[in-house]
Amino acid sequence: MHEFELIKKCFCDWGISAPGLRTGIGDDCLVWQSDLPLMVSTDTAVEGVHFPSGSTGPQVAQRAFLPALSDLAAMAANPAFFTLTLTLPPSLDDDWLSAFAGRLRELADQYGIALAGGDTTKGNTLVVTISVHGTSATPVLRSNAQPDDDVWVTGTLGGAAAALPAVLDPEYRDVNANWLQDYWVPQLPVEFARRAAPLLTSAIDLSDGLIGDAAHVAKASKVGLHLRVESLPLACGLREKGIAGLKYAISGGDDYQLLFTAAKSSRQELIRLADEIGQKISLIGRVESGAGEICWYDGDQPISLPWQSYQHF
Ligand code: ADP
Ligand code: MG
Repeated sequence: MHEFELIKKCFCDWGISAPGLRTGIGDDCLVWQSDLPLMVSTDTAVEGVHFPSGSTGPQVAQRAFLPALSDLAAMAANPAFFTLTLTLPPSLDDDWLSAFAGRLRELADQYGIALAGGDTTKGNTLVVTISVHGTSATPVLRSNAQPDDDVWVTGTLGGAAAALPAVLDPEYRDVNANWLQDYWVPQLPVEFARRAAPLLTSAIDLSDGLIGDAAHVAKASKVGLHLRVESLPLACGLREKGIAGLKYAISGGDDYQLLFTAAKSSRQELIRLADEIGQKISLIGRVESGAGEICWYDGDQPISLPWQSYQHF
């Protein structure tokens, strides 16, 4: 397919609108106008790095789009529009691309975000770059956690990391369907974050592993975090694995859940909101005065953990 035909067939007329989007795909620039602050984040997914070579179109759509969108949840922003930059190797056929676009459209619809532009080129490796844009009158930063706040996480932890050996090696048997789902289709707490925004003092999405991502909040906020291993919501079947399961939950990446802090006085309201929209949240610790340290406890007992989060380089 010719480039313009391809764009028209796959990416135009999805029927998802954003109130501030005055001009989308088809002109030289998209045009956006809004009175609200705009939050912007870009993520790149590379074949063989962020998804295995040979992944299906829908799988690549999920692994490129959901981690990108997760950054809007982390700011408690309202999804508005995204752009899509594709580098396509000649080996991919039209069917692959239609399946990719179809799944991307479903996800965009599910999370209420419009595709507003992009770029399409050829290259040797499949690369998908997605820039997400969201709005919020009260964006939630990493840097405002307050001593005595509660520390919470959404969803469950460790499933995606536990699935990874099986994702990379189809012969690998020690995996369950929930973990594979966590890896391929994380359920993002976008709606919860957006509605809870006024109650949150800080937030971060868990992309590289709880241990490192929690430290980002602690350092940015100039506080310490006191976290309890027994309170962590491990993905199903991981608690039974003892220390190996805990390692996936604490240092494994790719959860795309949120760690957030909120005043103790917000506890009941957060639980009520989470209940109302069916979002699992768990209280895992508290903020203390400090200078960026993470202190782990098992009950009342301080413990030290040897793990680090995922490092890209
Ligand atoms: P230009 O040559 O001005 O860069 P392009 O030919 O790259 O324009 O793109 C034409 C239109 O199609 C633009 O509005 C651009 O945003 C949009 N577009 C190109 N590739 C994609 C894509 N992969 N997804 C969505 N929109 C795209
Ligand atoms: Mg272009």
